[in-house]
Amino acid sequence: MTPAIAPPLLAIALEDVEKRYPNGTLANSGVSFTVAAGEIHALVGENGAGKSTVMKMLYGLERPTAGILRIHGRPVDFRHPGDAIAAGVGLVAQHLNLVPSLTVAENVVLGHEPRRAGGRLDRAAAAARVRALVEQSGLAVDPAATVASLPVGVRQRVEILKVLHRGARTLLLDEPTAVLTPPETATLFATLRQLAAAGRTILVITHKLDEVKALAGGVTVLCQGRVTGSARMAELDEGALSHLMVGGDLPPPPPRRTARTRPAPRVVARGLGYVDDDGAIRLRDVGFDVAPGEILGIAGVEGNGQDVLARLLSGAAIPGAGDARLDGRVFTGLSPRAVRAQGVAVVTEDRLHDGAAPTLSILDNLLATRYAHPPLSQRGLIDRGTARRWAQAVIDGFGVRAAGPHQPMGALSGGNMQKLILAREIADAPAFLVASQPTRGVDIAAASALHSRLAALRDQGAAILLISADLDELLALSDRIAVLYRGRIVARFAAGAVDAQTLGLHMTGLGPSVDGGDHDAVA
Ligand code: ADP
Repeated sequence: MTPAIAPPLLAIALEDVEKRYPNGTLANSGVSFTVAAGEIHALVGENGAGKSTVMKMLYGLERPTAGILRIHGRPVDFRHPGDAIAAGVGLVAQHLNLVPSLTVAENVVLGHEPRRAGGRLDRAAAAARVRALVEQSGLAVDPAATVASLPVGVRQRVEILKVLHRGARTLLLDEPTAVLTPPETATLFATLRQLAAAGRTILVITHKLDEVKALAGGVTVLCQGRVTGSARMAELDEGALSHLMVGGDLPPPPPRRTARTRPAPRVVARGLGYVDDDGAIRLRDVGFDVAPGEILGIAGVEGNGQDVLARLLSGAAIPGAGDARLDGRVFTGLSPRAVRAQGVAVVTEDRLHDGAAPTLSILDNLLATRYAHPPLSQRGLIDRGTARRWAQAVIDGFGVRAAGPHQPMGALSGGNMQKLILAREIADAPAFLVASQPTRGVDIAAASALHSRLAALRDQGAAILLISADLDELLALSDRIAVLYRGRIVARFAAGAVDAQTLGLHMTGLGPSVDGGDHDAVA
């Protein structure tokens, strides 16, 4: 007799799920896919595809408007996260929600604390529980450490411990590697594999093909709220996977700069320093050169001074020390408008706050920096017809998915918004472009388009400063890379002479200092 093969237990099942938000947006439609117990499943798709909405429904933050969600076979109707937690579903917060002044153990048990008679927190019991959890899960964390003292990667482990402490058998993670260094990412992946091997189920949103390959047993692709593919990784070869993820072949990465000799720098920054209102030194003695036709990458874990550097170079903040010059003229310490007039363009990290006005149309957002430019503008007056045709040409040329120039900017996905901001910033062929996290949260097809545009601008002779926490991006595009750590440049490399692991070490302050302060040492 042949034994019947039992179907794998399904930890998560979505059956024909629809989610229409109160404003009418259809975020999910006819969404069906399953995740087996003990599987790591990747949920992929471009910005706005409906991935986070799936996560929110599984965690009780949103309710489907039609269809069925099942957890371990049982239909569920989560009305709030408490229901999801009771059913063994946990969400590992993307924006880490820990209390910095408390210890790891206190954070892990917060809201579910062991108490002594009389209601006081039983610290000893809490610490013991968390130690046991650390041992079982293999998540290396010191339960007695104060969270404020821990790097981001370790804080994320605390978030995972917190979810496990609440009894989660199914873990939901939304882009968990966005803020991690390569060694931290490797550690996270090892942890997730271990949790899956112990029978836990993991659903993870990612934009990265490599991560899907490295981690997932199954993958589901969403596009405009619908499932366009769902497969077991074992059934896919690499070409089929990238086809599934981007609906076609990705163009090859842009070629590197080919010039053999490096021309004299166009941008020279020396001794840049900045002290916060509360006295914290955010940037100290930062200097660099960028030649025309060159991309200088700035690597660093978020919060090590990158944001301040971009603000100083855009005119949004005034340096406390030092300056930066373009073709010999100082442009720091001037107003943003004066900085721009000198030929400096900036793509900011926080596109919703600094880069775009969401309630205004695409057209008005594109025009925002161009009121003084003929032929769109004659003596300060915009020719709306010419402007509209120009905006339509930008939309077409950059492959922006939009109804037309009059659509409000806020209705676009992050990737499309970012394409328009880059288009606007490079339209005047700036001599120097500062691009800060230009593809953060942007899907791979849009990121690849943005990379080609940056490379084209470089080939036209612009000097580019590329500030990014994404090491793949830096390694693919930069000619040279400097690492910012605690407000200083701690290492400089010629691209091609360094790998992600080495950069990761320097980004966490563990590398030997290789910055002699000689800005052209590794030209
Ligand atoms: P993804 O996570 O794939 O980027 P989301 O699930 O966040 O996609 O969004 C899917 C669609 O639903 C998008 O068009 C988005 O603008 C819209 N959306 C998300 N949240 C809301 C909300 N609370 N109200 C209205 N529309 C929303």
